[in-house]
Amino acid sequence: MSSQRGNVSRTRAQKHKNRYVFKNDLHDKTPQQIRLNKMHVSTVCQHCKDVIEWKIKYKKYKPLTQAKTCTRCQQRNVRKAYHVICRDCAVQARVCAKCLKSADEVPIEAPQPTPREEQQLQAEMERLIKSFPERKRRAFLRFQAKGRKLEQQHEEDPADPEARELAQYVKHTREELLEKIEQMKLAESDEDDDDYDDDEDDYEGSDADSKQSSDSEDEERSELKDTGRKRAEK
Ligand SMILES: [Zn+2]
Ligand SMILES: [Zn+2]
Repeated sequence: MSSQRGNVSRTRAQKHKNRYVFKNDLHDKTPQQIRLNKMHVSTVCQHCKDVIEWKIKYKKYKPLTQAKTCTRCQQRNVRKAYHVICRDCAVQARVCAKCLKSADEVPIEAPQPTPREEQQLQAEMERLIKSFPERKRRAFLRFQAKGRKLEQQHEEDPADPEARELAQYVKHTREELLEKIEQMKLAESDEDDDDYDDDEDDYEGSDADSKQSSDSEDEERSELKDTGRKRAEK
């Protein structure tokens, strides 16, 4: 029987089945592969995101060795493989950076913020939560530091602990943070404000001067904070 594309009339089961899920990092633990597996594909529509993630998963992804020319602004600004326009053009035109479909037609995964945008967002959030009682402020900053867990896009073997390593976190979008602030504001009246402000300097991690620190450092720091807090509560 032909396995020609589009031939969907086969009735027998697949002859050869892999016993193990294909793992792109089984024989490749290079930093590049690890980075790719952790990469959050964004600025593209869901379809293009799936395509790029498929390429990563099956080791077909070829990172750019140098920036490509953007087909819109003609600058050498495209830094992501398979994208045809640069981040700025994609954001400005509200289109998928790969297939150029508009955000009006298809949902587009929001681009990861630049360090500058992140700083602005942080400042905005700090203004908004200024009036919060200490305890709530801390809860919010924890929420923000933790980020949003991405849904597992890759089918996985639940018995295989390594597969779970693919789970990843991304930063909350501005909309998600605003929503959280609203929720916390509404909850305000239900709770009493018995804040304990014995560890106010808990939040060094959110100060502007530590912006440059990497995500993993932030994670470590928030873990440290967590244990510190648990100890304080005992
Ligand atoms: Zn451009
Ligand atoms: Zn697309």
